[in-house]
Amino acid sequence: MTDLLHSAPALPETTWPTLEPGWVWLCGAGPGDPGLLTLHALNALRQADVVIYDALVQEAILDWAPQAEHIYAGKRGGKPSAKQRDISLHLVELAEAGKKVLRLKGGDPFVFGRGGEEAQTLVQHGVPVRIIPGISAGIGGLAYAGIPVTHRDVNQSVTFVTGHDQSGKTPSSLDWGAIARGSQVIVIYMGMKHVAQISRQLMEGGRAPNEPVAVVTSATTTDQTVIETTLVNLEADIAKAGLAPPAIICVGHAVRMRDVLDWQAQAAGVPPVNLDPLGRGRPAESA
Ligand code: SAH
Repeated sequence: MTDLLHSAPALPETTWPTLEPGWVWLCGAGPGDPGLLTLHALNALRQADVVIYDALVQEAILDWAPQAEHIYAGKRGGKPSAKQRDISLHLVELAEAGKKVLRLKGGDPFVFGRGGEEAQTLVQHGVPVRIIPGISAGIGGLAYAGIPVTHRDVNQSVTFVTGHDQSGKTPSSLDWGAIARGSQVIVIYMGMKHVAQISRQLMEGGRAPNEPVAVVTSATTTDQTVIETTLVNLEADIAKAGLAPPAIICVGHAVRMRDVLDWQAQAAGVPPVNLDPLGRGRPAESA
C-alpha cells in the first residue's frame, strides 16, 4: 500500500481540470482506503498549494500532495477543534491570497459533511469552487463489509440518516416512526452516541427486535471492524465489542447478504457462511 501511495499512477490521457490560484476545490476523500479516491481527487492533490483536511481523511492520502501545505481542520483525535465558520472563512482567506486550495473531506463532501455550508460561504464571498464527489461511507463502507445497500430481493429504497444534529442530540426533525415504517434499509451515520434511543424508536415504530443490524467501524481502513447483531441487542453488542466511532450502522435484511458477500473474509480464506441467505435461489437463474 505504501509503495502504491508513493508512486501514484499516471492519470489516464485526457484533459484534466487545472486548479487555478484563488479557487477552492471541495473534494471527497472517500471512506478511508486511499484506493477509493476518485481520479479528480488525485488530480487535485497533485496541484494544490494547500490541503485543508478533516479528521476522517486518512493521513496517507496527503502523501499524494507532498508539495502542498497540509492543514488539519478536524474535530477528533485530541487535537483542538476548529469551528465550522472559522474553517469556511479560512478557505476564503486562502483563496483570496491566491492559493490553489483543496478542501478534502471524508466520504462525500455533500453527505453529512457540511460541504454544502462551506461551498455556500465560498460562493457568497465570490470564491470560485469546484465540487468533487467522493464515495460515502454509508455506501462504500458497507460494500467493504459485504453489504449491498440495495438488493432486488431486499429493498427498493434506502434511507440515510444522521444520528445527531447540530445540537448533538438525535435530530428532533426526524420522524423515526415514519422511517421505521417506510424504509426497508436504514443507514445511520453518527449513530453511536444515541444508539439506544435510535434502536428503541425504530422498534416502537414497528421494526422487529430481531431485525438484523450491522455496525461497521473504520470501514475500508486496515482497522475495519464489523459486528452483526439485532435491533434489540444493538447497544449491548456495541459495548461488548468495544466499538468506537466512526461507525456506520445498517438496519435491515441487506445485512444478511454478508453471509455470502463478506468478500474480505473470503479473500482471507474463510468460506461463505451461506450461499443463499435470503432463500431465493441463484439470481442469475431468475429474470
Ligand atoms: N461525508 C462523510 C460523512 C461525514 S459524517 C461521508 O460521506 O461518508 C461522519 C460520519 O460518517 C461518522 O460518524 C460515521 O458515521 C461515518 N463515517 C465516515 N467514515 C467512516 C468510516 N471509514 N467507517 C465508518 N463510518 C464512517
